[in-house]
Amino acid sequence: MMSIGTGGRLMTNTDNVRDALVEQRAELLARLNKITSDVRHEDQAIESDFAELAVQRENDQVIDALGEAARQELTQINRALASIESGEYGLCTECGRQIRVERLEVLPYSTKCLHCASRGE
Ligand SMILES: [Zn+2]
Repeated sequence: MMSIGTGGRLMTNTDNVRDALVEQRAELLARLNKITSDVRHEDQAIESDFAELAVQRENDQVIDALGEAARQELTQINRALASIESGEYGLCTECGRQIRVERLEVLPYSTKCLHCASRGE
């Protein structure tokens, strides 16, 4: 019988998380690319009609908000991936305690434990 190598248990756990995060990042990047190319279209369509213009502005704002949200999520994912690399994944950045697994399953890139997060930013 072969013996199983040391430290296998924990690694499997973060490997799964990393895979999920990498996948999520790829999706986000694709979405961001699409958003950015949508914004570019605006150059060709300069409408003099007032109502049209208003709609276009509104669209731009929505696109901006979407892009902003995606960028923020991307930052959080990158931070989580970096903490997996450094072995600090799952530790609260406030108090240094282990973040509950249940919380990490819902929010894989949370950087604070429930206690610290509920105290506000
Ligand atoms: Zn904490």
